[in-house]
Amino acid sequence: MNYRSTRGGAPVALEDAIMAGTAPDGGLFVPVELPHFDPADMPTHVPIHELAQLILKPFFDGSQLSGELDEICADAFTFPAPLRNIETGTEKLSLLELFRGPTAAFKDFGARFLAATMSRIIRQRGNTQPATVVVATSGDTGGAVAAAFHKQPGTRVVVLFPEGRVSPRQEHQLTCWGDNIISLAVKGEFDDCQRLAKELFADEAIGAEHNLCSANSINVGRLLPQSVYYAQSSLDYMAANGEASNYIVPTGNLGNAFACAWAKQMGFPVADMILATNANRTIPDYLESGNWEPRNSVATLASAMDVGNPSNMERLRQLWGDADSLRDHLRSFSVSDAEIRDQIRVEFDRTGLVCCPHTATGFHVYRNLPAEDRQKAHWIIVATAHAAKFDEIVEPLVGETIPVPDELARILEWPSAFDTIEADISEITARL
Ligand SMILES: *Cc1c(COP(=O)(O)O)cnc(C)c1O
Repeated sequence: MNYRSTRGGAPVALEDAIMAGTAPDGGLFVPVELPHFDPADMPTHVPIHELAQLILKPFFDGSQLSGELDEICADAFTFPAPLRNIETGTEKLSLLELFRGPTAAFKDFGARFLAATMSRIIRQRGNTQPATVVVATSGDTGGAVAAAFHKQPGTRVVVLFPEGRVSPRQEHQLTCWGDNIISLAVKGEFDDCQRLAKELFADEAIGAEHNLCSANSINVGRLLPQSVYYAQSSLDYMAANGEASNYIVPTGNLGNAFACAWAKQMGFPVADMILATNANRTIPDYLESGNWEPRNSVATLASAMDVGNPSNMERLRQLWGDADSLRDHLRSFSVSDAEIRDQIRVEFDRTGLVCCPHTATGFHVYRNLPAEDRQKAHWIIVATAHAAKFDEIVEPLVGETIPVPDELARILEWPSAFDTIEADISEITARL
């Protein structure tokens, strides 16, 4: 399988697409042809790394990594993505828990897979100079990438995060590593971090000198593993209950939801999709008006979704077309901070479930669907992070201390260190 820019051009091998991150013409890499699967042929209720080996095989065909796919999946998928039934009367509702990894958010899937593939590519190429992975983060990506690459031979990581715009525990996960991880707080917002990363990659001299590669959700190596948990949850539910599943995905840069779109397009039993956004309304406004109007992001309680210019829309449009055609596949609703707060409280009162602010946008959208929508089909709300990562928001709302998952607790013990910089690439290159 080869990969091509969303804007056309010559196909490249998987390992080149992963190491480049973004295509030279500014587009995003996508497979030249998406494989198709017949759900009836797929195993169900198997460990996620086994399913990943089957689903990702065609994506690795002909690649220098194809012989190592099984080990890559075993290294990357070290924790499950369980589907948990939510008691809600006659309705069929489940939560897809994507927060069982080392940094307690779904970003661990993509980051671990990327680290597993990149470290093998670097070894195969025998590069003497380490690869420098640059990652701009609105909160969770940087922690997941740092955790996945920490002490990986032949790599170092530069994490760019917006000063004061991430939760205290997120900040800790971005800054507690040392060794081959450099953490930089940027005076600005996430969009400034993303712009800095893009400027670095656009500079060929810097790129060559430091062997730069990108770990942002635009990297195709992050997207591939994410489609696996949509395939798994939809297949397992279909096997047990004989019907397809509808998904509500809390959305920012559109990487997680795009992986769901891929799963649907590959033939897995995914029915409707709804993208839940926070007050950053670029996507719902686009679906309504048909005009793509990226803008600056606004800060919200669901900070990992504070994105005003969702990069992966370019892939989604390439897959399914413009707003008119996209409306056949998906809807999108914006959820305010007041609604997020209310929803965290309501879900706790209703079932004792404690959800993070991002996952709360999904619950809000679900609870506000027309009753016939909710009753006619099975819905899966995607739980993107563990509530304990956002304790300062969630604990006052539910009036309880949230138990911290073991791996997260271990990281929180480590000391943290970082520099604060102006939003200027010279400040970054000076530290490389
Ligand atoms: C990154 C993130 C999101 C948004 O995912 P995208 O792929 O950027 O749309 C939602 N929730 C949490 C907890 C995240 O870390």
